[in-house]
Amino acid sequence: MTGNDSTKTTTVTQATLVKKTRERLAYRPADVSPLRRVQRRYTMRRWSVRHARFLEWVYARFSSLFLALHPFWNAVGYARAEKPVKFVERQVKGLMFDCRMCGQCILSSTGMSCPMNCPKQLRNGPCGGVRANGHCEVEPDMPCVWVKAWEGAQAMRNGDAILDVQKPVDQSLRESSAWLRVTARAAQERENAAGSSAA
Ligand code: SF4
Repeated sequence: MTGNDSTKTTTVTQATLVKKTRERLAYRPADVSPLRRVQRRYTMRRWSVRHARFLEWVYARFSSLFLALHPFWNAVGYARAEKPVKFVERQVKGLMFDCRMCGQCILSSTGMSCPMNCPKQLRNGPCGGVRANGHCEVEPDMPCVWVKAWEGAQAMRNGDAILDVQKPVDQSLRESSAWLRVTARAAQERENAAGSSAA
């Protein structure tokens, strides 16, 4: 046997061993497919849309509570409260809506379907490329956020708000808390109204 023959025999033997080991370890859990895995990513989003009316009710109470806490936010300072509130907002809305922290939330007008998940970031309805199955033309596995928005809006008490024309996204507000912004604005409007009725 020559030196070359010896090397060849060893290589073949190792490759065979590796292949046999791989075959033995191959584990394929039942009922798992790449498509199912992808669609699971949208499970919470879909749940939120299906429960849009309930979430609308929850948000109404939540925003009232935040507004009632206006003196507290004022005492702490809205700027100082921003960081912790933003952290909580990101976790909660990230889980439920795949929130992208645009800072100017319009979930109440979009059936609890976040429009910032649209690859084109359209804020006033779908593009012309929605597929026949209601999925996105850019991400075929993803349900069109505007198809879902329409479904969610049908269940909501203020579902007609989906017809409101939305302003373009103000990119300077990204990564800021929409909860605090809405609260500060509502408090300001309340004070303005109280001032004008007293005058
Ligand atoms: S509209 Fe903006 S703030 Fe609201 S869930 Fe979507 S990314 Fe987040």
